[in-house]
Amino acid sequence: MKTIDKIYINGEFITPNGTEYFDLISPTTNEKLGKVLLGNQKDTQNAISAAKEAFKTFSKSTIEERIQSLKNIQTSVEKRKEDFINVMVEEYGGTLQFATMSFEYMLKGFESTINLLNTYDFTKTMGNSEVQMTPLGVVGIIIPWNSSNGFICSKLSTAIAAGCTTVIKPSEMSAQQTQLIAECLHEAGLPKGVFNIVNGLGDVVGAEISRNPDIAKISFTGSTTVGKIIAKEAVETMKRVTLELGGKSPNILLDDANFSEAIPLALIAAYMNSGQACIAGTRLLVPESRLEEAKKLIKETVSHIIVGNPQNKTTAVGPMVSTKQYERVQNYIQIGIAEGAEILIGGLEKPEGLENGNFVKPTVFVNVNNQMRIAREEIFGPVLSVITYKTEDEAIEIANDTTYGLQAYVSSSDEKRAHKIASQINAGRVQINGIGHDPMAPFGGFKQSGIGREFGTLGLEAYLEPKALIK
Ligand code: NAP
Ligand code: MG
Repeated sequence: MKTIDKIYINGEFITPNGTEYFDLISPTTNEKLGKVLLGNQKDTQNAISAAKEAFKTFSKSTIEERIQSLKNIQTSVEKRKEDFINVMVEEYGGTLQFATMSFEYMLKGFESTINLLNTYDFTKTMGNSEVQMTPLGVVGIIIPWNSSNGFICSKLSTAIAAGCTTVIKPSEMSAQQTQLIAECLHEAGLPKGVFNIVNGLGDVVGAEISRNPDIAKISFTGSTTVGKIIAKEAVETMKRVTLELGGKSPNILLDDANFSEAIPLALIAAYMNSGQACIAGTRLLVPESRLEEAKKLIKETVSHIIVGNPQNKTTAVGPMVSTKQYERVQNYIQIGIAEGAEILIGGLEKPEGLENGNFVKPTVFVNVNNQMRIAREEIFGPVLSVITYKTEDEAIEIANDTTYGLQAYVSSSDEKRAHKIASQINAGRVQINGIGHDPMAPFGGFKQSGIGREFGTLGLEAYLEPKALIK
């Protein structure tokens, strides 16, 4: 049993003023793993004050100093590789496969940010003027539980690159993961106050970050519902916001696609991170003429997907993070049945032998139309909806008929054709014949998938304020 009773403010692990504890429960067994002492409003204010003070000097740091900070963090993170993977598996229920991949991405992310710093011009000429790209101020980082340390590292790296200081509020469910990254960041020896971490609840710690006038910007990843609450509050003090919200990503299989490659890929896209991914490809658009073939292949592929203990190397789908998330996914499966969609494979209740954890059967619905709730709302679990189309134009129309626009996928044996379709989809990223990540390309959503972009130049500029000197 672990007790996490410290938060991190101004270069030190300290005991928070808050007195409430939150239980940490294993998603795999529902046994209690430990507890975390939650910070309160006063703790958040102290963290913001420390970041505000640190900003006075850190905003003037040189590019070399920022690069050195990033290298130091990378070194201390790299040393704890096993710990990062294990704690993500244990506390979050991420599969070993996913946690290992996440760690590698997290580590590579520092390099991408360093590369960016080596090439980015903080002073530009526009018209006849000198334009200085200046650090915005104190950044509030509010993140969910589905890739906690990955989000902390990418957002904090960008803030450091920009010369901003930070107050980080992770999900309280990620407390052990947070403790680990806090130890690494502490070891990296950053100037005190550059990062501060407050464990606590969204409507306490998150709300104070959204309200406090000394926060200049919020970088948020999470649900569209909470994103809207934050944006409304932020406007009172004109905080800048970067919001990475939900998705209902379409995956278009064109009629010339090689299904023996495209369908397994589609299931990876749908069930990545056990379905708890904002970029999951949860609407599979199949040409009507090839539906039977698609169904057969889907059934066959899903029947081989291993659900179970996330510690096992071969497990592809682990438990949902909490019983609440499990119930949410069950509820959506129920909704799909009630709406008249047909279960091709999977369905309600836990897979046999996995009754103790928050396990869901990887589920595929067919006979779905795009107006059903299971086709419109983010489920955040391993549930895929198959929707048929007759023509290419109809496929594009269905793909774009969503309030979201984070990511999309297109498969075709003719890459030019896929490219043409991809160009017509309203989404921040479109994956052609694969699933990849480009850390120098922008990431973010059209429509209600968010505001702003992360990664690369656009991601960095979201932490900078342009100042024109007119001579
Ligand atoms: P969430 O409610 O959006 O929470 C994300 C973060 O915002 C958490 O740290 C949360 O704190 C905080 N927060 C909550 N209320 C707040 C407020 N009033 N002001 C400021 N911050 C606040 O996400 P969730 O509860 O973890 O998951 C709910 C659903 O969101 C999921 O089922 C899924 O559909 C979606 N989701 C999307 C993503 C994504 O990447 N797009 C990620 C996770 C979840 P608490 O820890 O107290 O909740
Ligand atoms: Mg929440």
